[in-house]
Amino acid sequence: MSFPFFEKIDFVEEYIPSHKILILTVSDKNSWSDKKFQYVKKKIRFHYSVVQDDKCAYCRRQLNFGGYSEPIEHIVPRADNYLWMFEQKNLVLSCNACNSCKSGKSTLKPAMLTSATYPANKTDYIIYHPHFDIYSNELEFEDNMFYKWKTNKGKKTIEVCGLNNMAHLFYNAAVNNMNNDYDSVLDKIMYPNKYGLEKKDVDEFRKALVRRVKHLKKLNKAK
Ligand SMILES: [Zn+2]
Repeated sequence: MSFPFFEKIDFVEEYIPSHKILILTVSDKNSWSDKKFQYVKKKIRFHYSVVQDDKCAYCRRQLNFGGYSEPIEHIVPRADNYLWMFEQKNLVLSCNACNSCKSGKSTLKPAMLTSATYPANKTDYIIYHPHFDIYSNELEFEDNMFYKWKTNKGKKTIEVCGLNNMAHLFYNAAVNNMNNDYDSVLDKIMYPNKYGLEKKDVDEFRKALVRRVKHLKKLNKAK
């Protein structure tokens, strides 16, 4: 199945009018939480919310309309280079599941970590870069549920963002109305290798689904 959402961010230069000045005013990675940046963060959310069609940059889950309260995600984490925290090509919106799993993990090839300027080639990165890469060249979304890699970059993206973890699988099961159709979900995860899922994750997911089915049956009986 081809991916139904945006493939790549159409970059618009200078949507943050003063972003070059902002970069000069950060002193370390924690500057991001400084109150003086609240307004500019709002502008960033509004901008990427539209450009990304309210979809997470990595898993493509639906984000809140307008991007309110969604994490602003640094593609190269602040821990690796805090001077890129307002670099426009380093910013996107992501869902909480991707953002918290990705956290401070490195996304650049080690040789690029000391680069004086923001690395601008897609080959500089080990995961899908929403500004430089085409999503469907790297990853495939299958059965409206699982993420399958096409390249090593896709594989690393699944790993770094936890795309086949419980948070994502349950979300995708729920939005595809699989809540009342657990048998079909269980059938799909009988083939773990097809999706690159670890056996322990499949077992955990299956157990969690069975537990939910039991709970739903109990609730229905009580009605
Ligand atoms: Zn996501």
